[in-house]
Amino acid sequence: MTAQDIVAVRPDARPAGDVLLRATDVTKHYTLSRPRRTLRAVDGVSLEVRTGETLGVVGESGCGKSTLGRCLVRLTELTGGTVEFDGQDISTLSARRLRPVRPGMQLVFQDPQASLNPRRRAGDIVAEPLLVHRYGDAGAVRRRVAELFDVAGLAAAHLDRYPHEFSGGQRQRIGIARALATDPKLIVADEPVSALDVSIQAQVLNLFADLQEEFGLTYVFIAHDLGVVRHVSDRIAVMYLGEIVELADTEALFTAPAHPYTQALLSAVPDIDDGTQTASRERIVLTGEVPNPVDKPSGCPFRTRCPYAREICATERPRLTATAPGRLAACHFPLTG
Ligand code: ADP
Ligand code: MG
Repeated sequence: MTAQDIVAVRPDARPAGDVLLRATDVTKHYTLSRPRRTLRAVDGVSLEVRTGETLGVVGESGCGKSTLGRCLVRLTELTGGTVEFDGQDISTLSARRLRPVRPGMQLVFQDPQASLNPRRRAGDIVAEPLLVHRYGDAGAVRRRVAELFDVAGLAAAHLDRYPHEFSGGQRQRIGIARALATDPKLIVADEPVSALDVSIQAQVLNLFADLQEEFGLTYVFIAHDLGVVRHVSDRIAVMYLGEIVELADTEALFTAPAHPYTQALLSAVPDIDDGTQTASRERIVLTGEVPNPVDKPSGCPFRTRCPYAREICATERPRLTATAPGRLAACHFPLTG
């Protein structure tokens, strides 16, 4: 049994709300020394996330998902581009100006083992953001922590336990309770179930769905597993070498991918017999390695592995443009289904 078998969290795309988060041409480059080279971790990403929706971000390891996630909540400085959150450009705000914005956007990490301080009790971990943002007196903080434990499905009796005394799934619930503490509008979840057993994945995915429903949360949900993002996302952005190569409504993406890379990713996903998937799918097997992001191919980043690449793909970088309603692709020769 896999997580995908037991959950069908988001069967329908929901109506689009206002834009809560807008990234425009976001880049994050790291300078490596000896020899001095530029690593293009995120390379010109533009996207919008609407209030109440879940935007999935998917791609192979190293394609820049985590770096993008950190850029979106300004946990890292951008090399270029802008991020607007709730109508405000947060990409250049000073630390002092950023402070009042921070509570509204939170990150949930992949590995709760690593992101929870092992020497602090669970209750104190969840209380920390409340203290940082001066939520109220000790009594108010205690009541809020108890409420967050309840909301995240943790037992009040476990407030004084240390992270190692919890299971992996429970630890992720602590991370979620901590993220919810400041009543955020946006949660960027970076592979929040990737480190969990598949049987536990479904429970945590369902918790995300319930919380979204209850609090009207907006999610950017990062995963390398297309099966997981499919079940939580209204729309999905597919990343390759720091770029978004396709961004489409979830079902449209699965039914008829426009980018050859998306098609290749899909053919690697085992068929899920839930009646919604097209019966026959052409199998594209990726050949070669993902190029090194310090040495990106000219033109289209995917062209060195693309079965349809032609001359223009090496000379011109394709822009992310609409190829059909509800769908953007960065490809000179998008697939037409
Ligand atoms: P993903 O989350 O998709 O696996 P990451 O965003 O973690 O990808 O990494 C994207 C690229 O940026 C990788 O090549 C990674 O090695 C590189 N990278 C990430 N963080 C740093 C850093 N602090 N310094 C240098 N390179 C980094
Ligand atoms: Mg990552």
